[in-house]
Amino acid sequence: MSRSGEFCPRCGDEIPEGTDERPELAGAGGQRNSEHVLCDACYFEEFDLVDAPDTIQVRVCSRCGAVHKGNRWVDIGAEDYTDIAVEQVSEALGIHVDAQSVAWQVAPEQLDKNNIRMHAEFSGVIRGTPVTEEVTVPVRISRQTCKRCGKIAGGSFASIVQVRADERVPTDDERERAEEIAQEYVAAREETGDRNAFITETKTVDDGLDMKISTNQMGLGIAKRITAQLGGSYSDSRRLISEDEDGQELYRMTYAVRLPRYRQGEVIDPEDGDGPVLVRSVQGNLKGVRLTTGEDYEASFEEGETPDARRLGFREDSQQTTLVAVEDDNAVQVLDPETFESKTVPRPAYLDTDADEVPVLKSHAGLHVLPADGEDTDTDE
Ligand SMILES: [Zn+2]
Ligand SMILES: [Zn+2]
Repeated sequence: MSRSGEFCPRCGDEIPEGTDERPELAGAGGQRNSEHVLCDACYFEEFDLVDAPDTIQVRVCSRCGAVHKGNRWVDIGAEDYTDIAVEQVSEALGIHVDAQSVAWQVAPEQLDKNNIRMHAEFSGVIRGTPVTEEVTVPVRISRQTCKRCGKIAGGSFASIVQVRADERVPTDDERERAEEIAQEYVAAREETGDRNAFITETKTVDDGLDMKISTNQMGLGIAKRITAQLGGSYSDSRRLISEDEDGQELYRMTYAVRLPRYRQGEVIDPEDGDGPVLVRSVQGNLKGVRLTTGEDYEASFEEGETPDARRLGFREDSQQTTLVAVEDDNAVQVLDPETFESKTVPRPAYLDTDADEVPVLKSHAGLHVLPADGEDTDTDE
């Protein structure tokens, strides 16, 4: 064996040449130099392949399931935190810089709901010698409340979206849909990692729905989407709530959505002499179909979605009744569903003369045949 002429500073043994198989360390910084010259026996005696923390705490939000990573809360949508625990343990483990060909695996052992024991097994090659090391890191899942859930619990909000309707109360469907639209909007924002998007409170009130929203932009976005989908319009108003220490004024915005006066499926009489109209759409200006002829009806541009008209009822109020006879191109006979007398009524173009039964609506304006279910929704959004 050749001699290097170097001696181990720990034990004084001479270091044989050829031991050093760490060429990449030759130029390493000064701190490595003392290690560099230790003999193998001394080097391995104090060698740790893995540097592991005594314990790891994974902070999760007990309300929304978010995980605290780095210095912020992140929505990860996980129900099982084992993967998060594996990830955080892996990140916390340090491997000796001298090790080569490192391979490792981590096996979680679930002790209970909040405790996982992480078994990590490492192998590598150091100074030409294969080494293995096992470490066990206890992981504790710590359930806390994230910033967002804290704000929601504290009732924090910046804007209010009020959903009302013109000369009527929003229907249950409209209320539900408005709430869904708000939730979908918030969810889409959350999806992009925005943790400032939330609904603090949704409350049904006598004349509609009130929603407290985290920010002004979100409140505005929700009001816009509700009117885009359900029709109507919105207005905004602001109220000074405080001044901060710099004299900066803080406002709370209210977005008041007003759903259209008439709704899809409603039967109205524009009192223009051409008979009642079943409303098909209230987006833009009101559109529908005449129950007398089956012709299309559209309110004028000036009238928009609120033409002057008398309310007669709703499609839901219609009843199936017997089609007794077809008189001519303009008239059929049906059974009055209340008196069971045969009545001559107008024959709209949509009426299927082969049908045994047809839906009719009895109102102040008399008896009218409606389109069969589903046929009046062709212009649905
Ligand atoms: Zn030595
Ligand atoms: Zn949370």
